[in-house]
Amino acid sequence: MRKNIVAGNWKMNTTLPEGVQLAKEVNAAVAATKDLKCEVIIGVPLTHLTAVKEVIDINKVGLAAENCANHASGAYTGEVSAAMVASTGANYVILGHSERREYYNETAEMLKEKVDLALENGLKVIFCCGESLEQRENGSFKEVIKAEINDSIFHLTPEQWKNIVIAYEPIWAIGTGKTATSDQAEEIHAFIRGLVAEKYGAQVADDTTILYGGSCKPSNAPELFAKPDIDGGLIGGASLKADSFMGIVTAF
Ligand code: PEP
Repeated sequence: MRKNIVAGNWKMNTTLPEGVQLAKEVNAAVAATKDLKCEVIIGVPLTHLTAVKEVIDINKVGLAAENCANHASGAYTGEVSAAMVASTGANYVILGHSERREYYNETAEMLKEKVDLALENGLKVIFCCGESLEQRENGSFKEVIKAEINDSIFHLTPEQWKNIVIAYEPIWAIGTGKTATSDQAEEIHAFIRGLVAEKYGAQVADDTTILYGGSCKPSNAPELFAKPDIDGGLIGGASLKADSFMGIVTAF
């Protein structure tokens, strides 16, 4: 049985004290929630990982980095390796976010290297994919999503695949307030599950968690999460306040 997950992606927000405070609030709210129907993860800036790890119960709130390097170690000034991330006690890393693909020119090949290094270092990967508005409008969106998955994660063995969570995030819905309708999202989630089934078989596809991301909030999460192939969300803006994040966590 696949897991439901709600993961926050704080992006480049919060100073260290603010981040620690937010993590404490989420941790306390999760601890106080009876009958939690999903795994909760917070994705925090690299600078915050160690301090946030100290104030959360990692068995109740997973901890994700928002990136890691595509090299193992060495002369890459300013980069942070997967081994460094893992050494903070974080257990996840978000890779392939459209903001990193677009603003930092992350290619499919680089993402493949990052995915491999993350898995080698015991991190689970939340792998993002999704189309731009132009690609949605010109009808190429399924091909785009298929290529993103094929080129960066379909080289993995079925054993490695157990540590992959996919996040479908239509770029036109990220931070825009424009959510994909639950039917639009479900169509793509089912399409992605079909791709996984073709590659790894029906059982693996059935066990794969596929998250939706893009202006998800407490008001639209119940409808999205009610869809058969939507197993939770990757949450940007609404993860920056414990209340709104918990409103999504409890939407199942
Ligand atoms: C994201 O960046 O992963 C995201 C889904 O952002 P938002 O929820 O703000 O659209």
